[in-house]
Amino acid sequence: MFDALSDRLESAWKKLRGQDKISQSNIQDALREVRRALLEADVNLQVVKDFISEVEARAQGAEVIAGVRPGEQFIKIVYDELVQVMGEENVPLVEAEEQPTIVLMAGLQGTGKTTATAKLALHLRKLDRSCLLVATDVYRPAAIDQLITLGKQIEVPVFELGSDADPVEIARQGVEQAKAQGVNTVIIDTAGRLQIDEDMMAELARIKDTVQPHETLLVVDSMTGQEAANLTRTFHEQIGITGAILTKMDGDSRGGAALSVRQISGAPIKFVGVGEKVEALQPFYPDRMASRILGMGDVLTLVEKAQEEIDLADAEQMQEKILSAKFDFTDFLKQLRLLKNMGSLGGIIKMIPGMNKLSDDQLKHGETQLKRCEAMINSMTRQERHDPDLLASSPSRRRRIASGSGYKEADVSKLVADFQKMRSLMQQMGQGQFPGMPGMFGG
Ligand code: GDP
Repeated sequence: MFDALSDRLESAWKKLRGQDKISQSNIQDALREVRRALLEADVNLQVVKDFISEVEARAQGAEVIAGVRPGEQFIKIVYDELVQVMGEENVPLVEAEEQPTIVLMAGLQGTGKTTATAKLALHLRKLDRSCLLVATDVYRPAAIDQLITLGKQIEVPVFELGSDADPVEIARQGVEQAKAQGVNTVIIDTAGRLQIDEDMMAELARIKDTVQPHETLLVVDSMTGQEAANLTRTFHEQIGITGAILTKMDGDSRGGAALSVRQISGAPIKFVGVGEKVEALQPFYPDRMASRILGMGDVLTLVEKAQEEIDLADAEQMQEKILSAKFDFTDFLKQLRLLKNMGSLGGIIKMIPGMNKLSDDQLKHGETQLKRCEAMINSMTRQERHDPDLLASSPSRRRRIASGSGYKEADVSKLVADFQKMRSLMQQMGQGQFPGMPGMFGG
């Protein structure tokens, strides 16, 4: 189902190709596909509508950058908007200036609230922040036991007064104890119901008024999809939340709830639950969630891979070299290896939307060429790599490289000639001239 999205977007993009501006009429197909992708990812309908109209407004009139397919540019706009709506950066849990930091957990029953309480404590403990858990769910005796068991497992104390005490009083005393013991963070687990219920909301509001938490985290089950929007609205209006934890992201949920929660409450998702174990909690990263929601992991994996490999300082230095024609075979080899590290050429090209139609023969040819270059450069001495002119003027050096790498002298000659041609073109570019370079930049 998810793979189909990129195919569909591709056909929408094809229609954009050759047009120089993104306009209302030429993005309708692409917009329809994005809308469908968001609905499939379980984003709430109203949230989808709002989001799409924002994207549309933002995309309108954008110049299609030469060399970039309009579709790629459009998906980048969608993706950027999605990341921005979800908060751009990971927002960590606050730490109050004066101890203890008080965290109130809210949410429906079965969403993973109690588990998330323990997961959060373990996460904080790893950051050297001591914790106290407070069990206020007196309606389900098993809930208190569950928290005690989890607390033992992660070696974090649990404060409880049994199931006859008043939840508000338990919370108040729990915070007092944390204060007295100099605990860094106190996390209060509260009672949930299967559905939103006035008594539950009223009790939560009273606990909140009493303990004045620094964080009120709504725990949302990512599998509930559409429901997440209403849930968030009610909790945010009646209690006021500062953040959310999205649970059960290890399942096949596409994470649309993340967009709904953020768009409706404005509060950041702080963590995601990715399993039943107490260790299964991860910080929330808007960019990762955006690609999951769009089901376009491949496109972004490509971007990420490229970014990982290219060290910025290195790239700048390389650019300077290229433009001043100091670029030599050693630099060339480095660039070749970069390409290789990113995976097979075929693998890379297939990740680029619209490019997966290259024939296997064409791909194989490209890869063989790269391997050939590398083998020949590997047979060069350091001096030869640094000074390609040495090779241009010495047939015996070329013969030696040919026999060392297993190719013909003519192959080495061609490599050297091509390299010199490329370098002189680069030099002209560095001097502000832009000669036509047919074939090099996909012309
Ligand atoms: P509560 O009623 O909201 O306190 O929910 P619980 O913490 O008792 O969790 C309900 C069920 O969901 C339990 O079976 C948990 O093991 C499970 N659960 C909680 N978080 C996750 C998660 O991130 N992934 C998965 N797969 N299961 C989870």
